[in-house]
Amino acid sequence: MRLSDRIATVRPSATLAVTAKVLELKAEGREVIGFGAGEPDFRTWPHVCEAAHQAIDRGEFYYTAVGGTPDLKKAIRTKLARDNQLEYADKEVVASCGGKHTLYNLMQVTLNPGDEVVIPGPYWVSYRDMALLAGAEPKVVMAREESGFLLSPEELAAAVTDRTRMIIINSPSNPTGAAYSEASLQSLASVLADKDCWVVCDDVYEFIRYDGESPRHMLNLEPRLREHAVVVNSVSKTYAMTGWRLGYAAGPAPLVKAMTTLQGQSTTNPTSIVQVAAGAALSGPQDELQPMVEEFKRRRDYVCDRIGTIDGLSVVVPQGAFYVFVNVAGVLERAGAADGDELALKLLEGAGVGLVGGNDFGSPAHVRISYATSMEQLERGFDNIEAWLKSV
Ligand code: PMP
Ligand code: GLU
Repeated sequence: MRLSDRIATVRPSATLAVTAKVLELKAEGREVIGFGAGEPDFRTWPHVCEAAHQAIDRGEFYYTAVGGTPDLKKAIRTKLARDNQLEYADKEVVASCGGKHTLYNLMQVTLNPGDEVVIPGPYWVSYRDMALLAGAEPKVVMAREESGFLLSPEELAAAVTDRTRMIIINSPSNPTGAAYSEASLQSLASVLADKDCWVVCDDVYEFIRYDGESPRHMLNLEPRLREHAVVVNSVSKTYAMTGWRLGYAAGPAPLVKAMTTLQGQSTTNPTSIVQVAAGAALSGPQDELQPMVEEFKRRRDYVCDRIGTIDGLSVVVPQGAFYVFVNVAGVLERAGAADGDELALKLLEGAGVGLVGGNDFGSPAHVRISYATSMEQLERGFDNIEAWLKSV
């Protein structure tokens, strides 16, 4: 069978692969604990579900405007003004089927063959492959673990060349949970303001943060960025809505128009009912967020404590998101694993715990654990990991 050259460059998503494997083993009746999925284990808020029910009752079953209904765009603008003090017009906002789809569209309409995309690492698995699919070259600039997986402005600036067309900033980060302070964002923004390339702010974990900080947005810290920056966000993480699939971007009107054109020739509008639910999430009461974040914090503390007591494992305590990126260099040899990916496979077989190897995040010396699961599952999973590592 002949497939395109394009697809040959793309690897399956490592995060989704682990999630699928865990589900497959569970379906076979095996007891497996899933630390793979990067999605809140909370229920979508009742008033959001109610809005979806009402949309069905009203019969909102049809195509909408490709980039989102006027109501959804208004809700997105309300959110950006309320939470980020950023004012946008409808023509500067586009909604799509998840933040992933938004980023995909964005790269498709901005990148050409030969262009470079600067990706701070460790990085979320999909950035690299999306850049490749757009014909561009991912250029990873790794943050050092000793620096808390945060890049200095000098390190970031050094990665930018004449060919750089895009830089992605994801704070708090998947997979490390590293989160920039306002002062660091300010210095990054100053460096990026003069660069002739798109600056993408992937804000999907903006509210899942434990350091008590809520920095002003980079676009406010450095208004010159506004002309060449794109804000990307999604309802997936903040509102526990991963399966609903609704993401959005805000940026200059010509860019948004191009993304909408692409979407009009591919997926058309995001699901009509989901647009109503997302609108309710974005513009309605926000008080269910804090308890979720507090629960994540409790789990983060537990997970970091457990890791601290296991010989050979270490972790930089994450300040956001719901992942720990565990340094496993100290156990690889004893476990007979060449890297984090092999260790993850062995842990699935030997300990019945599904987690993601670090290779596709840019670091073979790590594995990623998602703690977006119950305390009881975390306790059992860590008991199993600890026991298995003692047995090898
Ligand atoms: N950016 C980052 C850093 C993520 O971890 C995710 C989660 N998959 C996304 C974007 C996209 O999420 P979604 O497509 O569910 O909106
Ligand atoms: N962002 C989540 C993760 O990293 C969801 C899966 C994905 O889209 O990659 O696990």
